[in-house]
Amino acid sequence: MTEVNPFETAQKQLDKAAEVLDLEDSVHEALREPMRTFIVNFQVEMDDGSTETFKGYRVQYNDALGPTKGGLRFHPEETLDTVKALAAWMTWKTAVADIPYGGGKGGVVCDPTQLSESELERISRSYVCAISDFIGPEKDIPAPDVYTTSKTMAWMMDEFSKIKGVNAPDVITGKPIKVGGSLGRGDATARGVIYTIREAAKEMGMNLDGAKVAIQGYGNVGSHAHRLAEEQLGANVVAIGDAEGAIYSEDGINYSHIKKNMKEHGIFAKDIEGTEYLGDGNEGNGKLLELDVDILIPAAIENVITEKNAGNVDPKILAEAANGPTTPEADDILNDNDVYVIPDFLCNAGGVTVSYFEWVQNRNRYYWSEAEVYERLDKKITKAFKNVHSKAQAEEVDNRTAAYMVSIEKIAEAMRLRGWV
Ligand code: NAD
Repeated sequence: MTEVNPFETAQKQLDKAAEVLDLEDSVHEALREPMRTFIVNFQVEMDDGSTETFKGYRVQYNDALGPTKGGLRFHPEETLDTVKALAAWMTWKTAVADIPYGGGKGGVVCDPTQLSESELERISRSYVCAISDFIGPEKDIPAPDVYTTSKTMAWMMDEFSKIKGVNAPDVITGKPIKVGGSLGRGDATARGVIYTIREAAKEMGMNLDGAKVAIQGYGNVGSHAHRLAEEQLGANVVAIGDAEGAIYSEDGINYSHIKKNMKEHGIFAKDIEGTEYLGDGNEGNGKLLELDVDILIPAAIENVITEKNAGNVDPKILAEAANGPTTPEADDILNDNDVYVIPDFLCNAGGVTVSYFEWVQNRNRYYWSEAEVYERLDKKITKAFKNVHSKAQAEEVDNRTAAYMVSIEKIAEAMRLRGWV
């Protein structure tokens, strides 16, 4: 877990794809930087009566295919480069998933663990107030991300609606169901991950029944991926880890057993019956990544697979549920070792796909059943996977490059048709 500038990683990945695509300089140059970057500073009254100034970012990376879309993070170490990288990845993600959106991302530099709920509400409302002229259902549609929740989205939607004098559920996604959220959003990202693994296994002629799986990260994506790997794939999850540590069992770690344990003892207790403790934090998680498994799902943070450990990371399928878990140097090593990589912005596109469904439902004021959401999600993700896989085969490139090629070709064509380049 090294210090790598995520925006430099995003640019390097783009450069590689641009070279294979023989992309004209004008398009390549335009795609190396965001179209619009907003930095706002706004004041918030704290519970003790004092006033603090907070810094917020919103990056609209490229909107050739439609309004920009992407999450909002509340994080003490948020930087503009992180937001720019995530906005770039959102741009490729919406294009690869064939969603009529561009990519964006935002963040507020704050530590939510040190703030009361009413302070968080005032920060959310003030941030929206500061960016209200730049966002909107047809301009830029935020969503939850690190340390922001459906409640944050409800406050922000309400504030935007008040400022504009309209009822605008479609300005933001990831809302609670009662104020326009979509059914099926909760586990949508993990579902997308599982669908892509299913399709990859089909292409590889691999039997998933009892296949060994390791999952790093046990939040929204990782924990649902555990359940769905059992339920939908019949796979055997042998290792799981979170920021605290990681555990392993050759016979498999049952999802309901872990849920029950977590309810009783909090997150992974070291002495869960039938499991071996791999170690605390990075130590345990480092070991988890190097286990002999069929499928590895990094679902935590960026840059966990680097040139230092990539030679020992050798699953048949690497399903990148997290954003940016693999550095470009590590990517080359994985490709040399014939690891089938499902690149992040394809693998984790399930979340934004259901966010798009939420926006569609909000705009029509007509809501779908959960089964309908899942069926449409499966169709979209399966099609996106097949497009990338066949591109990789046809062009004899790795899957990440193929995914970039699919999305960049689409965006570049829209830019040409609009007369930008
Ligand atoms: P989350 O905050 O719910 O969970 C993160 C998990 O990672 C936690 O279990 C945490 O303990 C663990 N973690 C943090 N640092 C770690 C470390 N150093 N080693 C091991 N584990 C560590 O987040 P999430 O929503 O599940 O997102 C996980 C990843 O998936 C992120 O990269 C996120 O950007 C990406 N992603 C999420 C969604 C979504 O819909 N939630 C969509 C697309 C991509």
